[in-house]
Amino acid sequence: MTEKQLIDAQRFSDIEYNLAVIRDRIAEAAVQSGRTPEDVRFMAVTKTVAPEYINHAIRCGVDLIGENKVQEYLGKKPELLPCEAHLIGHLQTNKVRQIVGEVSMIQSVDSVRLANEIAKRSLAAGITTEILAEINVGGEESKSGIEWDAAEETLAELAQIEGIKLCGLMAIPPVCENSAQARSFFSKMRRLFVDIRNKKLDNTDIRILSMGMSSDYYDAILEGSTLVRVGSSVFGKRIY
Ligand SMILES: *Cc1c(COP(=O)(O)O)cnc(C)c1O
Repeated sequence: MTEKQLIDAQRFSDIEYNLAVIRDRIAEAAVQSGRTPEDVRFMAVTKTVAPEYINHAIRCGVDLIGENKVQEYLGKKPELLPCEAHLIGHLQTNKVRQIVGEVSMIQSVDSVRLANEIAKRSLAAGITTEILAEINVGGEESKSGIEWDAAEETLAELAQIEGIKLCGLMAIPPVCENSAQARSFFSKMRRLFVDIRNKKLDNTDIRILSMGMSSDYYDAILEGSTLVRVGSSVFGKRIY
């Protein structure tokens, strides 16, 4: 074997092992939160990861991937095995045209303006695009996402836009020092999720609460996450 083949073999087996560990932990947290493992969907976040490794994860059973950048995803897509994909990174309005129809959901909708652009491009393509509203739950200036205080009003506006369908919420809480602090943000998100779901707004299908990454997916599930987005714990440290 060449050196590259040896390194790849190691990396492939690491990915397989990591996926098994994560699946077990997800199942455990789901049960601990009073749900079943099937109630929590697992997404492998594939930013910066080369198609051969993503394909290995898909062969190991991954059925949902998340990418942050339009260009990066479209570049890799022709080399990927069939797999559902969501956009999870900040989206500029001038990139909307390229991504509509290429992913099954856009999780990172952080303004009515962006939603309107997605809707316009979706209607032109004859489709409805499923979206999540990204909420800036920690009120951090450095992060995108709808401001907490404007959330309910903005969600009601998003619900009314034809061409998109609001399916739930996504959040990236601040980096926390401990589990209790992280859980307080997740719990805040769950309360908003339940509120908006109970409103049964027309034209919505509120079913997804997307929160939890490598460092905190266990806590996120304990607080009611229905979709966790895990990158580095699957593929190893990202090299940019
Ligand atoms: C990169 C990223 C993740 C995954 O982060 P890890 O810490 O590597 O698990 C999840 N969600 C979003 C929006 C991301 O950009």
